[in-house]
Amino acid sequence: LRAGSGLLITPSGRDYETLGPEDMVFMDMDGQVNEQDGVPSSEWHFHLEIYKARPEFAAIVHTHSRYATALACTGRSIPAFHYMVAIAGGKEIACAPYATFGTLELAQNAVGALAGRKACLLSNHGLIACGRMLSEALSLADEVETLAAQYSIALTLGDIQLLSDEEMAHVLEKFRTYGRESP
Ligand SMILES: [Zn+2]
Repeated sequence: LRAGSGLLITPSGRDYETLGPEDMVFMDMDGQVNEQDGVPSSEWHFHLEIYKARPEFAAIVHTHSRYATALACTGRSIPAFHYMVAIAGGKEIACAPYATFGTLELAQNAVGALAGRKACLLSNHGLIACGRMLSEALSLADEVETLAAQYSIALTLGDIQLLSDEEMAHVLEKFRTYGRESP
């Protein structure tokens, strides 16, 4: 395999618990697969379109985790209610407009909602988190789920104090330099 020549994706309709590395399906950047490699996840469109649009990413995690999905069913983005929202790379985590699962339209909506950021919600669907490696994308997906849970609880309490644009810009700058001081 040539680096950048394609992607590996989970197969469609298989029990995750029984999957091993050898079950991953290779897809080239034109969306073609060899039949003997298996059937790719029905969401291969957005995996492919995100990799095409954002070459800095080498891993994408997609999940219907409970709170992120619940929030996405209200069409809400996650605003700057907590400074950790900046972990996704921006001042909010956007919610992509709804489109049917597995469609190119959903892929385009996801790419749009990810602009300048590493994670987004998908309306009435779930979340996407991206990273330079799988562990990074997975921990971001976990972080977004935690934020979605905290924001959902805060919404039930009401009167949320959002952080200002200036404060979020400051936090984003701190995140960019965080950990770079030590060798
Ligand atoms: Zn999904």
